[in-house]
Amino acid sequence: EERIVSGFELVEDENEFSLRPRKLSEYIGQKKVKETLSIFIEAAKKRNEALDHVLLFGPPGLGKTTLATIIANELEVNIKVTSGPAIERPGDLAALLTNLGEKDVLFIDEIHRLPRIVEEVLYSAMEDYALDVMLGKGPGARSLRLNLPKFTLVGATTRAGLLTSPLRDRFGLVHRLEFYTVEELMLIINRSAALLRVEITPEGSEEIAKRSRGTPRIANRLLKRVRDYAEVRGKGIITKEIAQAALNLLEIDELGLDPTDRLILKTMIEKYQGGPVGIEALSASLAEETTTIEDVYEPFLLQIGFIKRTPRGRIVTKLAYEHLGIPYNKNE
Ligand code: ADP
Repeated sequence: EERIVSGFELVEDENEFSLRPRKLSEYIGQKKVKETLSIFIEAAKKRNEALDHVLLFGPPGLGKTTLATIIANELEVNIKVTSGPAIERPGDLAALLTNLGEKDVLFIDEIHRLPRIVEEVLYSAMEDYALDVMLGKGPGARSLRLNLPKFTLVGATTRAGLLTSPLRDRFGLVHRLEFYTVEELMLIINRSAALLRVEITPEGSEEIAKRSRGTPRIANRLLKRVRDYAEVRGKGIITKEIAQAALNLLEIDELGLDPTDRLILKTMIEKYQGGPVGIEALSASLAEETTTIEDVYEPFLLQIGFIKRTPRGRIVTKLAYEHLGIPYNKNE
């Protein structure tokens, strides 16, 4: 996964924590989530209780990890960060949970990838703040109940539908993060530019925002690339012209589509007359896993209305033909 426009974390993002907002008031957009969380956080603090477990879902790069960190900061507790695939056995989970302080936050990214045996242990931990561990093997084995500190689990996943219902039901607060508007992304870009000490004009910021696919992680990444370009080819200031030139060089078009997006659309148009095409057929044509298409490529194309899902498969819309400059000769 090397695409600049990918929402997934890349090696080049390793210092992105320095751009992360630390308080709810610095977290841009996601108004509804912020409002709800601020009320429940305040209530939990007043009652001196742990916050209810929180499930955040939405495409990568929209700010789930950031929000988990903010929740801990606002609660004035510590956070431990881990991910579903990293917790291989119930013992790994037990080690994490028993090391938490009272009311701490445990953040599990990609929680849908927890092994089933771990997930089952997590149920009682979430519900009763207790762990049932088996000691020994065979006829002499016995079960021991371990009390845990009251903690808040913050789980993150790309789609809520990936979770089993017993797990999903144990979260008191479930929120979907939305793609950001151009205006919101401009605020994020301006804030990051200030932290990176690079000058940017409002038009320069807008140009980057428009091509960021509604995703803060991509906005910050593009900002850094454009900054480099501005330093080498410009006067270090990010203007509209500099941003356009840099992003055109990276082959990211006015809507934030990259060569892979255009290849997918063109494949659907040229090989399948714009669809409907089934996910399996598309997967074979593109030599990509169906899950990669569904999780990585499709969400943004669906979001901007370039692809539609129908019972008979995916279709390319008129909007996409127009954007690609390909004549559209179908009746809609
Ligand atoms: P996710 O966990 O959903 O993949 P992250 O929380 O790691 O996403 O966010 C990626 C980057 O985007 C963060 O480093 C942060 O700088 C930035 N970011 C995300 N959401 C916001 C926001 N609401 N306001 C400002 N910056 C944000």
